[in-house]
Amino acid sequence: MSATGRSLGHVVVIGAGIAGLAAAHRLLGCGARVTVLEAGDRVGGKLLPGEIAGVRVDLGAESMLARRPEAVTLAREAGLGEALQPPATATASIWTRGALRPMPKGHVMGVPGTAAALSGVLSDEGLARIERDADLPRTETGDDVAVGEYVAARLGREVVDRLVEPLLGGVYAGDAYRISMRSAVPQLFQAARTHTSLTEGVREIQAKAAAQQQTGPVFMGIAGGIGRLPLAVAESVRARGGEILTGTPARELRREPAGGWRITTGERVLHADAVIVAVPAPAAAGLLRAESPGAAAELSAVEYASMALITLAYRRSGLRLPEGSGFLVPPVDGRTIKASTFASHKWGWIAEEDPDVVVLRTSVGRHGETEILGRDDADLVEVSRRDLREATGLDAAPLRTRVTRWTDGLPQYPVGHHARVARIRGHVAKLPGLAVCGAQYDGVGIPACIASAYAAVDQLAGDPAGVAELTANPVQSLHGGAGE
Ligand SMILES: Cc1cc2nc3c(=O)[nH]c(=O)nc-3n(C[C@H](O)[C@H](O)[C@H](O)COP(=O)(O)OP(=O)(O)OC[C@H]3O[C@@H](n4cnc5c(N)ncnc54)[C@H](O)[C@@H]3O)c2cc1C
Repeated sequence: MSATGRSLGHVVVIGAGIAGLAAAHRLLGCGARVTVLEAGDRVGGKLLPGEIAGVRVDLGAESMLARRPEAVTLAREAGLGEALQPPATATASIWTRGALRPMPKGHVMGVPGTAAALSGVLSDEGLARIERDADLPRTETGDDVAVGEYVAARLGREVVDRLVEPLLGGVYAGDAYRISMRSAVPQLFQAARTHTSLTEGVREIQAKAAAQQQTGPVFMGIAGGIGRLPLAVAESVRARGGEILTGTPARELRREPAGGWRITTGERVLHADAVIVAVPAPAAAGLLRAESPGAAAELSAVEYASMALITLAYRRSGLRLPEGSGFLVPPVDGRTIKASTFASHKWGWIAEEDPDVVVLRTSVGRHGETEILGRDDADLVEVSRRDLREATGLDAAPLRTRVTRWTDGLPQYPVGHHARVARIRGHVAKLPGLAVCGAQYDGVGIPACIASAYAAVDQLAGDPAGVAELTANPVQSLHGGAGE
């Protein structure tokens, strides 16, 4: 039974990434009978546990925001409470203007409350330009504006190019001059609407956060890898009677004349009272085309960025690395890698796996960059080693390397994204017993994906509270600190 007392009957969830699994988990709590269809031969989507040189590591997402509750709560519910682990270090660097420089503190996605907060990272001219924010006339945001465009107008391009861009790039692998401020950094969008001076708006955000005395780690990992989360949720779903079918792509989704849905896979035809489509936008477009061409057209327009992660394992003996969890690289500095995570520094559990092995990872590939991802694995390892040598002096030969490619890994949130999502939801709402969730709607971070899954279940259950909560709660899709 749902919260409203309505029976949900048999619900088919399409896609066993973290969104689909979270939906299945919640549906079972509402008394539904659940079948999850997954095209691949494993569950988890962008969450992928792996190993290198005998050390367990994450080969996809590696950290989750803990300042909103969904991901850590789901981990606890799936029995991973004891394994939750904050990063071992909160310091990170930025490789810019020829040196590794400490990542400034006291900013909101790279936007400072004062120019002084960015000293050391920006040039003197860049810092002086920030001061002009206080005297500039208002900069209109309209219904939405690109983060880079707005911040550059207020504080100058250097803040965007050296700080906002690599920080946003770490989340979206996108372009700060295209990414929606309203969707990606809603706190800044709100500040821009209510303040003429952006730095003043940021100081107010910081004062509010201080007054709320938010304590505890901003991010959390899981000993053994974030990749354990979907496995544990899947286990819990199965243990409570849910069915998860891997190697079973949904190929067609049609409404039944008498109500309910018919889902066709390669070999089977399933009948369901309701369906949750929890697959990336291109696959969702394909499934929805027959019954909702409007939603399909909107979903087809969602663009994705591809990237690759290069994981390198070194013998610890004699290895010297800078302190901290790693560094980000602004594109303006013209390097090839866009970030490096010193995984053995960042996560105590990785350091403990084998004290003689140190694990690092780098990432390459931003939205629209195709050349770099066309290179073979050996080449990606070589460019990573070259950039690591220049940034940190690390010259040792790795014991093992692993390249993990994430083609179309991250949906892009350009200006107007919120309006596109509203149109998709409008089309979907016309079809009873259908809901959508996943990274392309309300934020790409793991907690945001889980929240979208819960909202999808609440929509089916006829309980709008979840949807309202989601809208009231600014979408925070940040992740990873200095990681990729
Ligand atoms: C390299 C990388 C690093 C990241 N790092 C972080 C991080 O550190 N922290 C963080 O919070 N976020 C991170 N993210 C973002 C986050 O991991 C993803 O946004 C999130 O996991 C997406 O979950 P999802 O369930 O929406 O989609 P997915 O994980 O893409 O899952 C969708 C599933 O649907 C399946 N599917 C597709 N078509 C069909 C079909 N027709 N029938 C059945 N199944 C189908 C797919 O096989 C897949 O398993 C990262 C993303 C990437 C790519």
